[in-house]
Amino acid sequence: MQKAYFCHMILLDGKIAALSVKNELKEQVAKLRADGKRAPHLAVIIVGNNGASETYVASKVKNCEEIGFGSTLIRLDETIDETVLLDQIKQLNDNEFTDGILVQLPLPKQIKEQKIIQAIDPNKDVDGFHPVNAGKLVQGLPTFIPATPYGIMLMLQYFNIETKGKHAVVIGRSNIVGRPISILLSSNIPNGNCTVTVCHSHTKNLKEICLQGDIIVAALGKPEFLKADMVKEGAVIIDVGITRVEDATAKKGFRIKGDVAFDEVAPKSAAITPVPGGVGLMTIAGLLKNTLQAYSNKYQNR
Ligand code: NAD
Repeated sequence: MQKAYFCHMILLDGKIAALSVKNELKEQVAKLRADGKRAPHLAVIIVGNNGASETYVASKVKNCEEIGFGSTLIRLDETIDETVLLDQIKQLNDNEFTDGILVQLPLPKQIKEQKIIQAIDPNKDVDGFHPVNAGKLVQGLPTFIPATPYGIMLMLQYFNIETKGKHAVVIGRSNIVGRPISILLSSNIPNGNCTVTVCHSHTKNLKEICLQGDIIVAALGKPEFLKADMVKEGAVIIDVGITRVEDATAKKGFRIKGDVAFDEVAPKSAAITPVPGGVGLMTIAGLLKNTLQAYSNKYQNR
């Protein structure tokens, strides 16, 4: 039986929106090459062999290839000392032909994440995690917007979602998703100008707050957390969550679940992102845009 969806429900399809961004970038690279210039180059470092991280880095490298960027994948052993990673980052910082550097998180316990983030040259920090870039974001200065929030903004732009004056509820306050998306949505920028409520693990009355949300960004990492009774009719739902949930019937032994109970929330929504196939794909689009930006900044400053 067909499900009854909100009469104008838009599926915020990451495949379509990301393809549009990638096609634009592909054209820009082709133009650079036609002018005799080199292509932008992204270096990705992975430490250890966490299954999800492997998938993410493989996808980042593949997407670079698809649009004509150069890329280098550097693999380091799970047991390395922090200094090995710091040395590797230094080499990439000093390398004229590396425009963007990305260290895939999480890192093994012996390595301090903040130390690594701060070792990356802010001009090559295409993940936008360096405090210099995070600070610029807060002040509304040009910077590298962290890839996932950037991807969400690109998604809102692509689907022409009205945000001005809306109440956006962000669930999660991490440095990589919740905090930066809450800043962007409240900023005086296109697809911003929302009134934003940031919720987290100590928030009381989360359900009541969510019910006030015209836009809800779910980024807490709890599969199918946001249920239909927490969402008002006609809300725009952005599901950032990606969790591998064991499932013996699935080919890989697990399924990817978002933070939203899609089947029950979609019928009430005006627009909703699927998982997979939503924000994850836009994250890569954001990363690629940052890499081209890093490349362009380098040559503009000369
Ligand atoms: P995190 O663990 O760093 O942060 C989770 C946040 O959720 C915290 O701020 C916490 O306070 C809040 N939280 C936890 N339980 C809560 C509850 N019951 N009620 C309200 N708030 C609660 O996670 P993260 O790195 O921000 O990632 C969140 C999710 O997004 C994860 O599933 C992650 O895999 C996914 N993710 C997806 C992408 C993508 O490209 N789509 C990128 C990054 C992260």
